[in-house]
Parts: sequence; structure tokens; C-alpha cells
Amino acid sequence: MAATASARLLVLDDERPVAEAIQIIAEARGHQARFASDAAEFFELLRDWAPTHLAIDLVMPGVDGMDLLSGLAARHRTEPIIISSTTSGKAVLAAQRFARDNGLRIAGVLRRPLQAAALHEMLAQAGVGAVPAAPTGLAGPADSPSADLLDLAIKRGSLSVAYQPKFACDTGRLVGFEALARWHDPSFGQVSPAQFVPLAERHGLIAALTERVVEVVIPWFARLEDRGDLTIAVNISPRMAGDSAAVDRLAELCRRVHVDPDRVILEITEGAALRDDAQFLGQLARLRLHGFQLALDDFADGLVRLGSLAKLLFTEIKIDRSVVMAAQSSAGARATVESVLGFGRRAGLRTTGEGVEDASTMALLRELGADFAQGYHLGMPVAAEDAARLVTSAH
Ligand code: C2E
Ligand code: CA
Ligand code: CA
Repeated sequence: MAATASARLLVLDDERPVAEAIQIIAEARGHQARFASDAAEFFELLRDWAPTHLAIDLVMPGVDGMDLLSGLAARHRTEPIIISSTTSGKAVLAAQRFARDNGLRIAGVLRRPLQAAALHEMLAQAGVGAVPAAPTGLAGPADSPSADLLDLAIKRGSLSVAYQPKFACDTGRLVGFEALARWHDPSFGQVSPAQFVPLAERHGLIAALTERVVEVVIPWFARLEDRGDLTIAVNISPRMAGDSAAVDRLAELCRRVHVDPDRVILEITEGAALRDDAQFLGQLARLRLHGFQLALDDFADGLVRLGSLAKLLFTEIKIDRSVVMAAQSSAGARATVESVLGFGRRAGLRTTGEGVEDASTMALLRELGADFAQGYHLGMPVAAEDAARLVTSAH
């Protein structure tokens, strides 16, 4: 791939043979590679050599992997990151989620012993434009879009929405869509929500962004012919739950276009929802009183921390794609899926598995009794017209 021909891979690993193996494979692909054996050297090269890709070992003597990821997030690094690790299971999953939640791009996890084929595959995947979920264009950290630009895009209405279909596991029937914000900037190209949502959060633009999305999505859903009992899910920032005027506007919009709030699922991420403070729970209760459904999004390992009131307020749990994707290869991930599904059944919550990328994952979710599934294998996020066509053909 031409875009990767001049790529520069920076490797952080304390085991020289591993670092050298990565370097040889990278160079065979036409990359340049350098390696650092400690965090200080790594951050120095990061600044001075300006790598385009990173490969890091999260478990090294004297280096805290989470500190390292925090350091990268604090520098707003957008290079694809390959995590190489001897440990597997929950710690790596947690690190992956942490990275993602902080706007970093994880290209994949490389297990030890190192397999050349896996690294080849990952470097190819990390090539610009190769990952459909997060098209990020060629923009490097220094010239990534600014908050001002995002502000302008929100005000001009130039954000768009993609709709990802969601299906019932037992019958395979279409049950609804999740609306996902899209930003195409003329000079930066397609910017990933993993980049612009945190940007909006940091610069006080998230409320405006959410409102724009809702103003596009709810009327679209209202106009959808034959929508029957389909649902429409929207990601809301937890801050919106606390903004009573914004909630009232959403309820009013639904009334105006004749969308029953019971058909609208507001998705709130696990991290936010596990804040067990009374004020936040009161805000969630208000959303339920308006009739909206509430989904606990990106759920991975918060079961023990889920308070009893929160359990009553949510109507659905969406299992994070990092867990679902690992369920076939990791016993820990599979156990997490099973315990969340068991909990959902007992608590009367619907359950959705996200990130279904192949038929066998779909079969597993069905076998374990998930209600719904979402993922590239079943349906990519698509433009409004294509989503409408899916509804027509589902009848
Ligand atoms: P999310 O709510 O977990 O949304 C699902 C993400 O997973 C989407 O990424 C979707 O494209 C991706 N996805 C779906 N199926 C698969 C699959 O099979 N494999 C993989 N690898 N990925 C899959 P997207 O669109 O890049 O959105 C990223 C995140 O940005 C969302 O995660 C959500 O947290 C946030 N976001 C997106 N739109 C909005 C919005 O309108 N408002 C707010 N507040 N956040 C949004
Ligand atoms: Ca979501
Ligand atoms: Ca999710």
C-alpha cells in the first residue's frame, strides 16, 4: 500500500530480540523502524522522529502501561498503536478500552510469542484508510482538526449521520438502528468520532453536537416508512442527561414529529453510568419518565459496580465490542459475556452484543442467549437512504 510505504514505526520493548524481530518485519514491508527500550527514550523519539505508527509493550519493568497510554493521550497522539503483550485477557482488554476512551487508536493486539504473519496483518490493517470503522485521513497530530473547525461544522450543519442496523439474535430480524455522527472536513477528510467526540467533550461542544445529531436523526426516523416497532438509538453525552432544557427539547421534538419516546434509545457509556451519585441517577430517572429507553453502552466489566437503582433505570446493556470480539479466543471475555447476559435476563434488561465481525461470533451470541447483535458482519453503518432501503427490504 502506497500510504504505508514511507511509514515510520516506533517500537517500545525491553526485550531486544522482540524489538528486532518487529523491526525486521516492519522493514520488510517498506517501513522504517526505530526502537526504544524505556519510556523516556520512547517519548523523546516520539517528539523528534515523528513516527506514523507505534508498537508498544505494556508490561515492562519500570514502566506503567497505563501511564504510557495516558502520556500518549495527553499528547493527543493519533498514530495507530499496536499493543504487544505477554499477558492476555482482562488487563489488555482494560488497556484497550482505556486507550479508546481517551481518543487513541488501537490497531490491534500482538500476542507473544511473536508471529510474523500477525504483525504483517496488523501493519497492513494499520495502513491509512484500511479500517472502515475509523477513517482518519492522513492528518498527523500537528495538523489534526481544531475545536474551532468542529464548532463551525456543527453550526453549519455539516456533520452527517450514519445508521448501523441492529438485529434480533433469534430470528435475525431487523430491530432498529444506532445513529453515529460523521464528520467529513474538506481538508482533513473523514474524521473519526473517536477523535472528534472527545474533542467536543474537551471544548464544551458536546451538547451542541448531540443536539445537531438528534435534530437530524429523530425527524429522519419519523419519516421512515413502515418503521413499525423499530427503535432508533442515539449516543448521548452524560452531560446531556443533566441538562433539563436539552432533555425537554428532545421530548418536544419527539412529540412534534410523532415519534414515541419509547422507540428512542439513549445510549450512555458505562463509565458515566456507573457514577453512583444521586444527582446523576435522578437525571436518568427523568429521562425514563419522559418515556425514553436507556442503554448502558460499551459495557465490559462494571457489573459489580452497578448500583441497584441504575439496574432499574436502564432498559438495555450493550456489551462492548472489545469483549465480544475476544469471546471466542479468551475464556475470560466469554465469561464476561455470559455473566452480563445472565444478569440481563435476571434483571429484565435487553442485551446487545456489539462488534460482531463474523458468523461464528453471531452464532456464539445466539447460543449464549443475547437478544440483539450489531456489527460489520451483520451491517455496516450506512447513509440514511440505504438504511431506509434496509427497512423496506426487511418487510
Ligand atoms: P459506540 O457507541 O460504541 O458505537 C459503535 C462503534 O463501533 C461505531 O464506531 C461503529 O462504527 C463501530 N462498529 C460497529 N460494528 C463494528 C464491528 O463489527 N467491528 C468494529 N471494530 N467496530 C464496529 P464509530 O462510528 O467510529 O463511533 C465511535 C464512538 O463515537 C461511538 O462508539 C460513540 O461512543 C461515539 N459517537 C459516535 N456518534 C456519536 C454521537 O452522535 N454522539 C456522541 N456523544 N458520541 C458518538
Ligand atoms: Ca453507542
Ligand atoms: Ca458501544
